[in-house]
Amino acid sequence: MEFLDLKSKLDAEDVTLVAVSKTKPVSAILELYHQGQRVFGENRVQELASKYESLPKDIEWHMIGHLQKNKVKYIAPFVSMIHSVGSVSLLEEINKRAKQNERVIDILLQFKIATEETKYGSSGHEDWADFPFDKYENVRFRGVMGMATFTDNTDQVRSEFRRLKNIFDNLKTSIFATKDEFQVISMGMSGDYVVAIEEGSNMVRIGSLLFGARR
Ligand SMILES: *Cc1c(COP(=O)(O)O)cnc(C)c1O
Repeated sequence: MEFLDLKSKLDAEDVTLVAVSKTKPVSAILELYHQGQRVFGENRVQELASKYESLPKDIEWHMIGHLQKNKVKYIAPFVSMIHSVGSVSLLEEINKRAKQNERVIDILLQFKIATEETKYGSSGHEDWADFPFDKYENVRFRGVMGMATFTDNTDQVRSEFRRLKNIFDNLKTSIFATKDEFQVISMGMSGDYVVAIEEGSNMVRIGSLLFGARR
């Protein structure tokens, strides 16, 4: 799909576009950058760090993939948002590295909404009940993230997205009730972003639709 067509469609619905550039060259990123895109997502630490080095510094880099604790230090100096926080130990490491860099890093809590075993994240809002969020001064809790099952069954995908929206609503009315910044629902990829937006997404992570299929 043409970038500008997709972008204007998403803008009209107040949905933030994260252009997922994993495996794609710097030149492909610059092509979208020159059309105005500033938010890019990657799922590997090394690739993310090297693209950060070689590209304009006003790009907002989002880490969307599974993140190992021992690699947080490589992205902590510059990453703007980490979508894939599913454990307390990862949260602690991000807070520690953000502090060392005198930064506050935006994070999303990742939930496992898919039936597939490979997907990662906490299982429900109950997992974070009574959690001492205020203790983490160098982390800003911005919302939730999830991935639906990879299937043609739209009803299933829809109900998984609905579940994430529900988890968000639960958190928003309980422990994050006083936090205006807790407002992001990151759900939807190339194949399912339309359904995701219908179910309340306000941030989509789109790769192949913009950059072509990955090999
Ligand atoms: C690769 C990836 C995407 C984008 O997938 P497409 O189907 O290419 O749009 C979105 N989210 C995550 C977590 C990914 O790893």
